[in-house]
Amino acid sequence: CGVFGVWGVPNASALTALGLHSLQHRGQEAAGIISYDNQRFHQHKGLGLVGDVFGDSRVTAALPGSMAIGHNRYATTGGTHVRNVQPFYADYAFGGLGVAHNGNLTNAATLKKALVKRGCIFHSSTDTEVFIHLIAVSLYSTVLDRFIDAVKQVKGAYSLITMTPDDGLIGMRDPLGVRPLVLGRIPGYEEGNGGWVLTSETCALDIIGADYVRDIEPGEIVVINENGIRSLRPFGDQGGRFCVFEYIYFARPDSVLEGQAVYETRKRIGAELARESAVDADVIVPVPDSGVPSAIGYAEESGIPFELGIIRNHYVGRTFIEPTDQIRNLGVKMKHSANRPVLAGKRVVLVDDSIVRGTTSRKIVDMVRAAGATEVHMRITSPPTRHPCFYGIDTPEENKLMAATHTLEQMAEAIGVDSLAFVSFDGLYRALGHENRAEGSRRYCDACFTGDYPISLVDKEGNLVVG
Ligand code: 5GP
Ligand code: SF4
Ligand code: MG
Repeated sequence: CGVFGVWGVPNASALTALGLHSLQHRGQEAAGIISYDNQRFHQHKGLGLVGDVFGDSRVTAALPGSMAIGHNRYATTGGTHVRNVQPFYADYAFGGLGVAHNGNLTNAATLKKALVKRGCIFHSSTDTEVFIHLIAVSLYSTVLDRFIDAVKQVKGAYSLITMTPDDGLIGMRDPLGVRPLVLGRIPGYEEGNGGWVLTSETCALDIIGADYVRDIEPGEIVVINENGIRSLRPFGDQGGRFCVFEYIYFARPDSVLEGQAVYETRKRIGAELARESAVDADVIVPVPDSGVPSAIGYAEESGIPFELGIIRNHYVGRTFIEPTDQIRNLGVKMKHSANRPVLAGKRVVLVDDSIVRGTTSRKIVDMVRAAGATEVHMRITSPPTRHPCFYGIDTPEENKLMAATHTLEQMAEAIGVDSLAFVSFDGLYRALGHENRAEGSRRYCDACFTGDYPISLVDKEGNLVVG
């Protein structure tokens, strides 16, 4: 998911809509904004893309105020229903509160069970609603103390943006900082301490002309209001374990995460891969869009020309996702097409970020061969995905992950390539500039590749699911 919050600027909701638009890649299912105008909260949410929900400026005009938070939804728990669309708003005896969450709690079902027993009534099937009830039942008096009490009980990955009339914006990253959250400032609002922005990625700062200030640290809480910005660290410093897959695939290439440009990092991973698993070929072809920066790095390192041998159609809408059998049988590829002159008679290296189920790869390889490629080699800029993510990235269960059920040779055969190689862990971590992977020094979460989960999977161990 993508989260965005702004404090101390006129038309905060319009800026939030822009921010969400640039975070669209983090969630395409639904979008929502809550604003506060110093008297009342206003909210609007809907299913679909940000442009569908907030494209008409009259919608944000009806969300007045100088403080707003927004959310793009990409479901990892809970289905596609309007009641699961964030941000959530709660009306407590002590005042209103809005919350937007990116990540996934690993003990949400366990906590929910206990809360329901205590009489809490849940309105959604998402893990995020657990925060709302934990804050409600907390015995502390101030909202901030109730918030801290709540986050101390949850486990998992959570980049949170909360807003309340008294405290202003409250931002937080989970103690290991698995999901991103950055702080920015819009110039010109320094008077009155305004212009603060909290959001998932720096690309959402760029679109509204905000300057990047810094990343929120793992476990850090920041409180932003007319008194300025205050930082709290109720969890101390546990060392960060940022999601390595944000660099490989999830984040936008023009974002800078934890001081590292995503684009340059992807290029370096591609270069590592070129050194590790070189192959004689005529063209380097990315699987767009995710494979593009790393294919550029691969091509530069190998000296083999980079070509757009596959063209992506960017207008694949929801209405087109389920074609009829008749259309499907024509082998219609909605998203990718072969650029025949680039591929015909060539030995092709395809570069992509990951193989999850393997269905995309198989289709693309068939298409490239049908366009006349004489050899097809696949190079993947992540290690094999062998384990599900429980921290907010939607990966299928283990038995649906091709790399969990196939050897490398079996995968190459199933995908139909002449050779297949994944980047090594050493190569990946070298590209990230953190080669030391020893216990205690590891800087990233890489559980979907290693099975080494840095945050306990409480619900999974108790066989509980959120619902
Ligand atoms: P598969 O192997 O499952 O057919 O597809 C892998 C492709 O899906 C990769 O090229 C990658 O770009 C994309 N992908 C990887 N992770 C995700 C994800 O979490 N969500 C979506 N929508 N696509 C993903
Ligand atoms: Fe990221 Fe993989 Fe860890 Fe999930 S399991 S947070 S996708 S590195
Ligand atoms: Mg892809």
